[in-house]
Amino acid sequence: MKVGWSLVFGFMVALVIAAPGCRPVCPCGEKVKPATYSGPVIDAHAHLLFGDEEKALNVDVPASPAELIRRMDAAGIAQAVVMCIAPAGDPAGTAEHNDRIVEAARLHPRLIPMGSVHPADGAAAISELDRLAKQEVRALKLHPNTQGFDVSDPAVLTVVREAGLRNMIVLFDGYSPFDANQPGKLIKLAMEAPGTRIVIAHVGGPRFVELATLIHVLRSYAWYRNNLWVDLSFTAEQFGASPLGPTLAWAIGQVGADRVLFGSDFPIGDPDKALRAVRALGLDASTLRAVLHDNARDLFLAGRTAPSPH
Ligand SMILES: [Zn+2]
Repeated sequence: MKVGWSLVFGFMVALVIAAPGCRPVCPCGEKVKPATYSGPVIDAHAHLLFGDEEKALNVDVPASPAELIRRMDAAGIAQAVVMCIAPAGDPAGTAEHNDRIVEAARLHPRLIPMGSVHPADGAAAISELDRLAKQEVRALKLHPNTQGFDVSDPAVLTVVREAGLRNMIVLFDGYSPFDANQPGKLIKLAMEAPGTRIVIAHVGGPRFVELATLIHVLRSYAWYRNNLWVDLSFTAEQFGASPLGPTLAWAIGQVGADRVLFGSDFPIGDPDKALRAVRALGLDASTLRAVLHDNARDLFLAGRTAPSPH
């Protein structure tokens, strides 16, 4: 169903102002239940880098599979989704990056591979999706800021739709300081590609209130296909212990506990610190179970034939 944009966002604003349910009331209520979930944890957002690039994201921490697994063990994390970011105009380099991710996941079955393409590569990007799908890669990372593309570029919509046709999830970096319209552009993209499951990383970073509110309102519309997830990487570690910690817990409730994923953003974030930050948010045990494990299992592991430790 086509809905006029001015009408949709006009209605959203009206709803946010008018509906009592949209006021920032902590979903935890007056008493915060103890965080009792102690089962397996899946990290839905970790980067791997290889060779000379190993420390490109953190000068102190090599983004190698060995270092990631060491930190997963230290934190008590069972599995992690590992990703690369495709360069522009270099399909051969993109394939090489993706092959390294696939190989790392073959060597370490606790790692779940997430590939990448560059939307500007056109037909070559679509061919790479086919190649990834044949190798059981079920997810794709796109980073508008690092890869230098605009989320509203039609080439991005093409890649996102084609990924959905191959049953691939698309994870977008969720914050750019250089595109003030990005949360809205990501929401619009999700509406225009209803057949693709999309994860917005970092809950939109410092814009997490705006993003959570938009998703909350979207979920009330009958036509919305509920194809959005968010991950807490960076944002929980950054804001969890700040005065905005309770607001982040509220935002998780607005997005919906069934749509929030734990992530570390290794090597930028530390898996143990990220996990402690999420556990300290005061979420109830069932929400914590969903966020730390079940949502990522259902999204990334359902129907997967690759070996899984649990
Ligand atoms: Zn990241």
